[in-house]
Amino acid sequence: MAGFGFSEEQEMFRREVRNFVQKELIPGAKERAKQGVLNKDIIKKVAGMGLMGLRVPEKYGGQAADWITVGIAIEELAKGDFITSFLPTEPILCNYLFENNKAIAEEWLPAIVKGDKLFCLALTEAEVGSDAANIKTRAVKDGDSYILSGEKLSISFGPIADAAIVFAKTDLKAGFRGISAFLLPLNHPGVSRSLMPMMGWRPIGQAIITLDNVRIPKKHLLGEEGKGFISVMKQFDFTRPTLALQALALAEVSLEEAIKYTQQRHAFGQPLAKYEGISFKIAEDYTNVEAARLLSYRALWLRDQGLPHAKESAMCKWFGPKVAVRVVHDALLMHGHVGYSEEYPLQQRLKEAIGFEIADGTAEIMKLIIVREILGKEYVP
Ligand SMILES: Cc1cc2nc3c(=O)[nH]c(=O)nc-3n(C[C@H](O)[C@H](O)[C@H](O)COP(=O)(O)OP(=O)(O)OC[C@H]3O[C@@H](n4cnc5c(N)ncnc54)[C@H](O)[C@@H]3O)c2cc1C
Repeated sequence: MAGFGFSEEQEMFRREVRNFVQKELIPGAKERAKQGVLNKDIIKKVAGMGLMGLRVPEKYGGQAADWITVGIAIEELAKGDFITSFLPTEPILCNYLFENNKAIAEEWLPAIVKGDKLFCLALTEAEVGSDAANIKTRAVKDGDSYILSGEKLSISFGPIADAAIVFAKTDLKAGFRGISAFLLPLNHPGVSRSLMPMMGWRPIGQAIITLDNVRIPKKHLLGEEGKGFISVMKQFDFTRPTLALQALALAEVSLEEAIKYTQQRHAFGQPLAKYEGISFKIAEDYTNVEAARLLSYRALWLRDQGLPHAKESAMCKWFGPKVAVRVVHDALLMHGHVGYSEEYPLQQRLKEAIGFEIADGTAEIMKLIIVREILGKEYVP
């Protein structure tokens, strides 16, 4: 093995993002979290730092970056101002999904990279989540248009996004090969949306998006008919390690706080950290966070090398959030009653971390992918 760390450039980039987060994002982050809506000025600041253009071609205002660098950006944002860590991902997804639609890429990508337009990804429905191949939303061709009808639920960024990438069936009989992706500006006639209040991720919001015979031009079909599901599933191989890093960032900061707290607070005549009941838990949590982080960066490294990484990505998405929830919970308990109070961020972080156990595929679905890759398709029900 050639090396087992970040390159000089990657370390420099981490320091730059960390400084930016400390100077520009952390002041006022607590106040903004209370407002409950992602602040437009903050989106512009993140975009101004180039973090909404990572891996988007230069001609659209973006910049080349390896996948590990993307992971570093997301991890550092999540450690400082958690909600901003969602911003780098959508532009990367849009860039891929617009690959075969030059006119759409030219119209939307520069505005996305500048932080002027936000996107959401609308796949989940009331009756279908994990079993996404069975979505009910329909797209029917009518002359030079498609007519979309159906309802999408739990859509992150849904309440504030300018447009959605909507997945709909163009062929009811073809399973996942009958799913196509469409670009839908959310101010289109026939689109309505409402907030779906969740226990976490609140400033980006989750929406119910209802499509009542929405007519969109044929050119809004992204790629070919029937290829929408396959193309987005391929991108989940990068969002899974980065989602894990977002969750683990919550664990890292919580653990740092718990270490300081248990060294300072005394009980029965000595610091809490002197009791093995506490220090062993810290040792275990530290080890698990490190292991899950390395797994995530390794999956991104495999992607950088062009090597298969579906299994590793699923491992990250199962293991990372599981470790994060456990570690944030432990840190909260080590803080005693103050950890449970709203004055401390730990209870909120626990709610944020649980979201990662569900979004983008649950633990059971990740294990199905791991089983498929290790044992073969015939072992997946
Ligand atoms: C915070 C958050 C953000 C989200 N953002 C988005 C978004 O932006 N866009 C979007 O489209 N969706 C989004 N979702 C939806 C998310 O992708 C789905 O919730 C997820 O895929 C699971 O689907 P489901 O909730 O319908 O659960 P179900 O599929 O109904 O599963 C319920 C339970 O059954 C288990 N289960 C299901 N099938 C199996 C099986 N074969 N074997 C064993 N166990 C099984 C699951 O693991 C789970 O525990 C978001 C969800 C959350 C919580």
